[in-house]
Parts: sequence; C-alpha cells; structure tokens
Amino acid sequence: MKPEDLQAKLEKARAEFYLLYEIGNAMRSTLVLDKILYIILTSVTAHVGLGFNRAMLFLVDAKTNILRGEMGIGPDSPEQAVDIWNKVCCDKKSLEDFVSSGQKFKEELSKSQLNNAVRDIEIPLDGTGGILALTALEGMSFEIITSDAREKLGFDPYLTQLKLERFATVPVKAKNTVVGIIVVDNIITNECIDKDDIWLLTLFANQAGLAIENARLYEKTLLTSYRDSLTGLWNHGYFHYILSLQTSLSDMNKKPVSLLFIDIDYFKNYNDNIGHPAGDVVLKTVADILKVNVKEGDIVARYGGEEFACILPETNKDTAYYIAEGLRKEIEAHKFSNQEVQPLKKITISAGIATYSDDADSSKTLIDYADTALYAAKRQGRNRVVAYTSDFSIKVASNNPM
Ligand code: GH3
Ligand code: MG
Ligand code: MG
Repeated sequence: MKPEDLQAKLEKARAEFYLLYEIGNAMRSTLVLDKILYIILTSVTAHVGLGFNRAMLFLVDAKTNILRGEMGIGPDSPEQAVDIWNKVCCDKKSLEDFVSSGQKFKEELSKSQLNNAVRDIEIPLDGTGGILALTALEGMSFEIITSDAREKLGFDPYLTQLKLERFATVPVKAKNTVVGIIVVDNIITNECIDKDDIWLLTLFANQAGLAIENARLYEKTLLTSYRDSLTGLWNHGYFHYILSLQTSLSDMNKKPVSLLFIDIDYFKNYNDNIGHPAGDVVLKTVADILKVNVKEGDIVARYGGEEFACILPETNKDTAYYIAEGLRKEIEAHKFSNQEVQPLKKITISAGIATYSDDADSSKTLIDYADTALYAAKRQGRNRVVAYTSDFSIKVASNNPM
C-alpha cells in the first residue's frame, strides 16, 4: 500500500473512532427513549454521522412478537436531500451540538413522510416477515447491495413500502438479546455500501442496543414509582401531579374536570373480623372494579389506605354522578368473601364528587370539596354518592343501604 493510501486509511479510522466516541457521549447525555432513538438515527445518517442517506429503526415487541417501526430519518425527496446536503456541508456541527439544537425533533419527525411510513409498519417475527424479521430472528446483518441480491428476495411488502432497493440491515443487541434492527440505504446518492460501512454500523448498533435498554429500564422504573404496589393503581403523588395538569388543561379548554373520592365503608370492621390479608384482597378487587369501569383517559388512584380517587377529564358533574353511581352499584353487586360480617351485610363504598371549575378554583379546593361531599355521604348512612354543590346544598344521589 502506498504511504498516502495508508495515511488516508489511518485518517478515516481515526475519524470513525472519534465519531463512535462522540455518539457514545451523546447517548449517555439522556435517558429519554425517544431522544436516544433520535440520536441513534441521526448518528447513522448524513448529518454528522456514519453518512447513510436514510436510516430506519425497528424495535422488537417481545410480548406480541412483532418488529415495530419506531423512527425513520432521511430526506423525503431528492430536492430535500440537496437542501440537507448543503446544510451539512456549510454548517458542520458536532453531534452533541446537533442533538442539543434539535429540541424540536419530535415536531420535525411528525412531518417526515419517511418517519410516518416507518411508524405504520408492524412486521410479524416469523417466516412471513421477510428479511427485516430475519435480521431480528437470526441476530445477523444482511447486505442487499446489488440488484441481483434484491431480485432474489422476491416481493416483500415492507421493502416496497419503504422503497428499499439496495440496503443493509443490522441487528441492535443489548447483551445477547436482539432489541431491534437498523436499516440503512443510500437512496439519493446511490453510493455503494461496503464491508467497512457495515462493520462500523455493527459496532455502533451494539452501543445503541445498550443505550435503548438503559432508557427502557429507566422509563419502567419511573412508571413503577408512580404506581401503588398493592393495587397497581396510580399512587398519591402521581394523582396530585395529574390533577394539577388536568385543572390547568381545563383552564385552557374550558371543559370541566370532575373528581370522585371513594372510601370503603366500615373497612376497619372487615379487617378486624376477617384479617388484614383478606382486607388486602378486598382493596385489590375494589381497585380492579374501578379500573375496568372507567373509560380510557380517566385516572384511578389509591389516595390512601382504603380511599380511592378518580379524575374524570372533560366530565361535568351530572355525568360524574352517573359514573360514580355505576361504580357504587358494581361494588355493591360483587360477592366479596365473608362480606356478611359488615354492618350493611356487604362490602360497599361511599363517594363524594366535586367539579372544576364549577365548584372549585384550584386543585386543592377541588380535593377539599370532594372530601366534604364524601364525608356527607358517610354521615347520611354510607353506600351512596353525594355531589358537592356550590351553594353548599348537598344533593343525595342514592340511598340504598341494603
Ligand atoms: P368508614 O365507613 O367511616 O370509612 O369506616 P372505616 O372503618 O372504613 O374507616 P376507618 O378510617 O376507621 O378505617 C379505615 C381502615 O382501613 C383502617 C385499616 O384497617 C384499613 N386499611 C387501610 N389501609 C389498609 C391496607 O393497606 N390494607 C388493609 N387490609 N386495610 C387497610
Ligand atoms: Mg372507610
Ligand atoms: Mg377512610
């Protein structure tokens, strides 16, 4: 090899290692999954990274055995490609600069045709999923870099959808598990993908796999910390967070938010007679009944011991009242074991309702008023729903103690 070729090769290797180092730093700068994915794909494409025209990322959903399209980065048209190329050439930034200046990445992505096409794709992880599924199933890369190789693959709806003609796929691994795949091509420049490109991409994909796994673990831990461990409902802290979000949203969209406070009647008596473990089963069952009887978007939380709270966004008081009555009846009708020890001969709940902003002007007063209504339901004999009204007259929704 001539000295100048050797020099060029060394230069290239140095640049590539520096790039891997920079990508690693960028990935360590965040634990937010979306942002990690964006860094990964930005690193693979022409902006600053490995230099491919387009990069697409699919993640394995082990539960449903599906390879799901998550993100695609690259120009939607040759004109756009020229724009991007010019921008990249005139304004060479470091990856970190690029990522921190890309705060609006979600907005940009939502407008990208490629990203939307990728996100529409779900590939079964079996023999019908074609070469993309095979990359994940076998955990190995494929280079379809000649027209012959492409022809041999035959018809593949996913490749057609993404206009993939000459391309390469690599598995993304975390330790020894395939968590996804990256697909790259040079649809605009038609530049050939060579062995060195694949080698670098594979090194990079392994780093990306670990970053994805870390971000997922972090998100899972975060979600677990918002949940009540006995019932699986949202916990007290998360309830307060969502309630203040919902009241702010209500200020903007001028739609009411209703709050239900629910408390199990004579629960101490049940615990004292049947025991705490049996009491826990009742708590869990009540939580399950609440969960399945509210609609998506409603928030059910365990407020404290045997108290629950439901936030019903965009729900006025009459509807909230109807919903609470439904919940009360469901629980009254459920056959809890040993419920005959209870003063009402069954496990029942009382509920109080208040509505923002009809009754209250802050989330704190909304809680106070729902609690006041609940207290009134208890005073009036339990197993009933009471709605708070602004003139302090208490409306009794039902009186059905037995
Ligand atoms: P009321 O109808 O007025 O609500 O009467 P109550 O007996 O339900 O109310 P009180 O506040 O006197 O008692 C609440 C009881 O809830 C006390 C405790 O035994 C029970 N409790 C609270 N948290 C738990 C829990 O995590 N597990 C179990 N098994 N019981 C709990
Ligand atoms: Mg109680
Ligand atoms: Mg209580």
